Amino acid sequence: MSSQPDFSASSFRAFESAAAALYAREAEVYAERRPRSSAACRDHGAGFISNVPLHWMLDWPMPFPMVVAEAQGVHIADIDGNRLTDFCLGDTGAMFGHAPPPVVRALAGLETRGFTFMLPSADAFAAGDLLAARFGLPHWQVATTASDANRFAIRAARAVTRRAKVLVFDGCYHGTVEDTLVDLVDGRTIARRSLIGQVADLSQTTVAIPFNDLDALRQALAAGDVACVIAEPVMTNCSMILPEPGFHEALRALTRTAGTLLLIDETHTLSTGPGGYTRVHGLEPDLMVMGKPIAGGVPAAVWGMTAEVAEAFAAARDRDEHGHSGIGTTLSGSALQLACLRACLEEVMTEEAYTVMLDRAAEIEAGVASVIRSFGLPWHVARVGARLEVVFRSAPLRNAAEARAAAMPETERALHMMLLNRGFLLTPFHNMVLVGPGVTNAEAAAFVAAFADAVAELSSSAEAIQ
Ligand code: PMP
Repeated sequence: MSSQPDFSASSFRAFESAAAALYAREAEVYAERRPRSSAACRDHGAGFISNVPLHWMLDWPMPFPMVVAEAQGVHIADIDGNRLTDFCLGDTGAMFGHAPPPVVRALAGLETRGFTFMLPSADAFAAGDLLAARFGLPHWQVATTASDANRFAIRAARAVTRRAKVLVFDGCYHGTVEDTLVDLVDGRTIARRSLIGQVADLSQTTVAIPFNDLDALRQALAAGDVACVIAEPVMTNCSMILPEPGFHEALRALTRTAGTLLLIDETHTLSTGPGGYTRVHGLEPDLMVMGKPIAGGVPAAVWGMTAEVAEAFAAARDRDEHGHSGIGTTLSGSALQLACLRACLEEVMTEEAYTVMLDRAAEIEAGVASVIRSFGLPWHVARVGARLEVVFRSAPLRNAAEARAAAMPETERALHMMLLNRGFLLTPFHNMVLVGPGVTNAEAAAFVAAFADAVAELSSSAEAIQ
């Protein structure tokens, strides 16, 4: 890690304005290479709001989305014939590569077995056993998105504890879960200002505190009204914030003392290893959620619980009237999901796949860190397993306030476009690099070389401005 002091205000401004100019140039290059994507988005998208099936598809640095023609393994190609190494991987949905062959085979095998019937399929019980064996919690349920799984796990936590409040860490993202869509502003928890159509006052039921702040945690749990803490083990949605040594042990001890359940959201940190961060680092959650890549990119999510929580959950269901529980959706637990979940756990998320992912990610981390050092930049690389990103300050981030202060939005989008035009697709959010199992040593080295190229140009343009 760099021991450089952080940028002075003038260097920061020079870097950001150099980046803005380079971004404009790269956006033109991108557009020139994509006449067909441009025409498709402009002329044929009217059936959708803003011409795309989900408005998030416009949240990329590109001037318009590339239209995807093919995606296999860690490669993606657009209808203009541009082929890229994909380090975005559908923002994690395709963590183990696009269309993993075992999952494709599982889908094909459903031809005579059907997709959905609100009954367990032949694959269901095997998948349940695989989840219990791999992730250490004995009882699971299936949902269709990680958002839903988090929502259901929170509902279960409230039912079990008979408490109203949820504690989140400022800067978190756990999906479209109202209870978690808050920010910590001047010490107060308020609904996230981007939240559309929000009516309920979230400050009544959610408390946000800074990550890595054990005093704040102690204080927030003291009243005994928090049903659960929901946490990513490493915060991955506001830059990357690693837990300080001892944080997870203290989080577990304090929640236990307070009678608060601990819900670990592993959706992104599944990148750590075959059993997620929880297994690799010996966490002891009461509830756990995983979605996105867990069934190879087919919409599925799972939430698991300890035997104690399962027992209390069953008692809560018996206590209340049976009927609409607020948990579950019609297509959840479908034969389609279970077949893909089983194939993914048995044949895709293997030790061997993780070995390649982690090795390549470590190579990229070392390469990128050495580029940062050689240009004397006050940045560093944060990594959780196969997932890494450049943080624009020299010291590790402790919380979201520090992450917001370290942001360099122009530099971020310029780097994104420069790497895209050099053959590498990064995640649109803070340029996260997710290294899938098919990445070769040569591709990892080429990525580091492209990063060095981009940084060289940014640095020399910034120097010229200063
Ligand atoms: N948990 C985490 C940690 C996430 O980052 C996300 C989405 N980025 C979700 C849950 C929600 O996933 P989905 O959008 O698939 O519901």
